[in-house]
Amino acid sequence: MTAPVDVVVVGGGPAGLSAALNLVRARQRVLVLDGNRPRNAATLHSHGFLTRDGISPLELRRMGRDEVTSYADADVQFALVDSVTAVDGGFRVTASGVRGAPDRDVTTTRVLVAAGLRETLPAIGNLRAYYGTALHSCYECDGYEKAGEALGVIGETDDLVERALMVALWSDDIIAFTNGVATVTDDNERMLAARGIRVERRVVAEIVGDRGELTGLRLEDGEVVPRTAGFVRPRWTAALDYLGALGADTDEDGLLIVDAAGRTSIPGLYAAGDITPPGPEQLIVAAGEGAQVSATIIRDTVFAEARSI
Ligand SMILES: Cc1cc2nc3c(=O)[nH]c(=O)nc-3n(C[C@H](O)[C@H](O)[C@H](O)COP(=O)(O)OP(=O)(O)OC[C@H]3O[C@@H](n4cnc5c(N)ncnc54)[C@H](O)[C@@H]3O)c2cc1C
Repeated sequence: MTAPVDVVVVGGGPAGLSAALNLVRARQRVLVLDGNRPRNAATLHSHGFLTRDGISPLELRRMGRDEVTSYADADVQFALVDSVTAVDGGFRVTASGVRGAPDRDVTTTRVLVAAGLRETLPAIGNLRAYYGTALHSCYECDGYEKAGEALGVIGETDDLVERALMVALWSDDIIAFTNGVATVTDDNERMLAARGIRVERRVVAEIVGDRGELTGLRLEDGEVVPRTAGFVRPRWTAALDYLGALGADTDEDGLLIVDAAGRTSIPGLYAAGDITPPGPEQLIVAAGEGAQVSATIIRDTVFAEARSI
């Protein structure tokens, strides 16, 4: 696609691709710039997306990209957006190509940020090796597959109690690991105990396993607590440096604040998906938000043009 661009979408996950599909169908020229580093690539199967339950996350994206690029006025390019700056009548977007794709420097009247979140896992040895197979972050997504197992719920934040209670939907053999960080009050510990959930406050040194199967969590004093699977709470951050001087409003977690229709505090700049409050959700929710914000962008465009006549 070489013609001028109406909307640049930052991020080619479910939010960005769903928006792009609806935008191009409303005859908008759309360029999706995607760093192609999906957070969920750690896992082999995505669950809960109606008609695609169990699909590989990468396959879901590939199908989405194919649908979007089947329209002549839409393009998806692997590139990492470096800057979005205000120029007369819109925005200038620069991006560095990834995986051999060229750099881009485009102007557009509207930008949709659908760049998802970055996550940092607790600093526990070997955790990465089991993340996405035995250890997951999203219990709504992967709880069903872990039903009845000896589960560890690892978290360093105060929502550990809430998360352990939620995971109890799928198993009655749960230990909540604070990793020496999360606070669990005596009242909360009693509440967890009433559900059969034990609290382990010692630091977890390492995840241990045998031939790829998780077998336990080794604590700092060497004791191994047998477990076969579990859920871990990452810390999530929104990387928004490229918005630089635009000064879009963010909340206390650094997420882009939007109104109910997906508009940020900057006219012409929109956001959807996990990068907006409340943060991490699910594929189908992100895709739904993408569809919703595309309708906003289209409506805003139509009425802005009508008013300018
Ligand atoms: C391990 C794991 C497993 C999960 N399993 C499930 C599941 O089974 N079911 C489910 O419903 N949900 C699951 N989720 C949640 C789901 O993946 C997210 O809710 C969803 O992907 C959010 O979509 P998004 O479009 O907002 O962002 P993302 O899917 O994160 O996509 C954002 C894209 O933007 C790109 N990007 C970031 N910065 C830039 C930039 N500067 N320039 C260009 N591109 C950029 C990224 O590389 C990425 O490709 C899982 C999440 C994780 C981490």
